Amino acid sequence: MTGQQVPEHDVVIVGGGTAGITVAARLRRAGITDIAIVEPSEVHWYQPLWTLVGAGVSKLATSAKPMVSVIPPGVEWIRNAVTEIDPDRRRLALASGGHVQYRWLVMAPGIQLDWNKIDGLTDTLGRNGISSNYRPDLAPLMWQAIKETRSGTAVFSMPAGPIKCAGAPQKIAYLACDQWRRAGVLDNIDVHLVLPTPGMFGIKEFADTLEGVVKRYGITVHFDSEVVAVDGDGHSVTVRHNPTGGTQQIHADVAHIVPPQSAPDWVKASPLADANSPFGYIEVDKHTLQHVRYPNVFALGDATNTPNSKTGAAIRKQAPALVANLLAARAGQAATKQYDGYASCPLVTARGKCVMAEFNYKMERTPTFPVLDMTKERRDMYLVKKYALPQMYWRAMLKGRA
Ligand code: FAD
Repeated sequence: MTGQQVPEHDVVIVGGGTAGITVAARLRRAGITDIAIVEPSEVHWYQPLWTLVGAGVSKLATSAKPMVSVIPPGVEWIRNAVTEIDPDRRRLALASGGHVQYRWLVMAPGIQLDWNKIDGLTDTLGRNGISSNYRPDLAPLMWQAIKETRSGTAVFSMPAGPIKCAGAPQKIAYLACDQWRRAGVLDNIDVHLVLPTPGMFGIKEFADTLEGVVKRYGITVHFDSEVVAVDGDGHSVTVRHNPTGGTQQIHADVAHIVPPQSAPDWVKASPLADANSPFGYIEVDKHTLQHVRYPNVFALGDATNTPNSKTGAAIRKQAPALVANLLAARAGQAATKQYDGYASCPLVTARGKCVMAEFNYKMERTPTFPVLDMTKERRDMYLVKKYALPQMYWRAMLKGRA
């Protein structure tokens, strides 16, 4: 194919998820007229609700909208998947066999769920009481498994390495326990939480509160540990203690398993990837979100190597910085707007209770409402999580106004 036949856009955005749509809307509002989004999915998901879907609190349908309804007016939607990036030629290869040329590139393709890195998991997902809120089709099955459990052993796991919403593996454990408490069966269920970390949370005030929650529900926590294999038919999981390498089998009548995660394989194989990391995330400056080797490439969201907590809340603060820096670079100026690593993790601990953890790169607390004690379980923050944040997402953030 010759260069003349390849369509070219001023700005091409890869991925029409939380990050891609938010940036597209902001660029449109800033007056950029030639923007294209490459996105294969017909559905746009608000993933934070999947935790509540898995707990029987929200309906899956409320987390989805047709992609066409969130693409900002005036932005071209290329209904395709990127398979390769050639940043030296400013060119993307598409699954259809076509190509797209860009002057400025925004990478927002999200994260890859590596289900097959846990032995036996793909054979049993959605069956034998084993499910996960990390896939929309599986979240309702998680609720079914929780609802039907009256006794036995339950396992909730988090993998090592960066994952999206690192609080989600804990939240479903608490919501399940709350359901079992309400049903009067919690005392009949032996609950295990498997965490790769040495503590409940990286900030002491939140860790203290979560230790109280774990105690209240009688959960056994396995720190520095991971689930490495699942035997669905045998109703057991293998847990490895990472510092020693020792393993133990835990019976599992019901289990919520979160898969290991990494950059999409085609991103890992591209020159944009951080070659020093096994996860292959896109290597950007953690404050400006500009690529460290290709100044006409920016990235945000779950696919970058920035050491913030991978959340939609982080994207809400990344997007304005990225857009300001892309516009500056496009005008021949330096990228100076700084993203400080803000992320927020609404740690739902029961129906009606939530600890709203907000923090930055330095793991300093950055509460939006400093007059409230945000280190404690609060009913108002549960209402924010369940009702206010989804409204803010659909009505303001995806329109470039929040
Ligand atoms: P995504 O929103 O995943 O979008 C990526 C897009 O890229 C998708 O539309 C995909 O189809 C597209 N894509 C993929 N491959 C290609 C390709 N080859 N070419 C082109 N496009 C491609 N965050 C919070 O802030 N608060 C929470 O409480 C919270 N809870 C969560 C609970 C769960 C269970 C999960 C799974 C996530 C949660 N998150 C939460 C995290 C939040 O949803 C993500 O951080 C956010 O969606 C990341 O946005 P993104 O745009 O980077 O990726």
